[in-house]
Amino acid sequence: MRIFNKPFLVVAGLISFQLVSCKNFSAKQTWYKGNLHTHSLWSDGDDFPEMIIQWYKDNDYQFIALSDHNTIGDSEFWYEIREREVKNKTLEKYQHRFGDWVETKIDSGKTLVRLKTFEEFRSKLQVPDSFLVIKSEEVTSSFEKKPIHINVTNIVEKIDPIRGTSVLDVMQRTLDAVHEQRKRFKTPMFAHINHPNFGYGISADDLKQLNGERFFEVYNGHPAVNNEGDDMHIDTETMWDLVNIHYLNEGKPILFGIATDDSHRYHSFSSEDSNTGRGWVMVNSKKLATEDIISAMEKGDFYASTGVHLKKLLTDKKQIEIEVDHESGVIYEIIFIGYQKGAEDVVELKKVIGKSASYTFKKEDVFVRVRINSDAKKDNPIIKDETKKAWTQPFLVE
Ligand SMILES: [Zn+2]
Ligand SMILES: [Zn+2]
Repeated sequence: MRIFNKPFLVVAGLISFQLVSCKNFSAKQTWYKGNLHTHSLWSDGDDFPEMIIQWYKDNDYQFIALSDHNTIGDSEFWYEIREREVKNKTLEKYQHRFGDWVETKIDSGKTLVRLKTFEEFRSKLQVPDSFLVIKSEEVTSSFEKKPIHINVTNIVEKIDPIRGTSVLDVMQRTLDAVHEQRKRFKTPMFAHINHPNFGYGISADDLKQLNGERFFEVYNGHPAVNNEGDDMHIDTETMWDLVNIHYLNEGKPILFGIATDDSHRYHSFSSEDSNTGRGWVMVNSKKLATEDIISAMEKGDFYASTGVHLKKLLTDKKQIEIEVDHESGVIYEIIFIGYQKGAEDVVELKKVIGKSASYTFKKEDVFVRVRINSDAKKDNPIIKDETKKAWTQPFLVE
């Protein structure tokens, strides 16, 4: 039996654990909130790594991965302060917050700031049992102008963008490089396919043919990524189901859905900017350590959220139970979505308007997942009238 329960309570930066009793089953459950996709001045983000990490730390996240494009921040890099930084007061804000830690020099009349390496900013900001900084890279490639971006969480060694003969070939070679590195370093790490609808670079058919892919972004908070699709392209959630139906028929493991920020802009806030706080994962992990977070995610013990939190997410062989950690005055819609034997597509199995719901599996069910919609508007949304949601992982019915 898998049991998920009350989201963590964050009190003065400490996580309080809750003993949960459900039917005959008691378990201590801990949920950790994290974002696995973020950019800094190491690539095309507009702030210093420590400032970004500090934001997540101050906003009740328990883990963060800076995933800059094609770098793991391990070299000496003096960043030149330009017009944009002057306008945003980027250096002043950094110095104000971090004081003498900041290293600057003047060279040929230009102000340069040394970007701290991953090891440096991690040791500055990570706090045991309270806040975790995970090493990451967004391996950023393309095929015939189609963007192909793949994050590698807990990467050890930088992976250069890989070229190939098709979108599928580039993705597969990148995944193979991640698997090879994981084996070589005996370190848990995983790849996740980023924003498939960005530039409509990656189709459901491409994803279907991959081998060894376990995660993709069902939601990405960057305004240019087309999570919703358009007249010609399906949305990422529909893509997710189609890929999983195919994976199951091929005997491949199920694909899990992640929500991320993909934040780049930290000085201006609008639906046109890629800002923080839009999408994250809630992971049910034994402890706050990278290996445990990865292990829980690989078991599907997490959900993706853009604002809805769950008090209870319980599955066993017979049913799924959901209870929303509700905000007052908000209406929730709990939708059980399933794929049934012999069907072409998923169907809506049950819909409940309320704060809790359960679904008893039928013998024809193959997998069931839950989306929780709400009528609560998101602050700083990427699309007009965007509301807060959550997505559980598909649960395989035996
Ligand atoms: Zn990207
Ligand atoms: Zn990105």
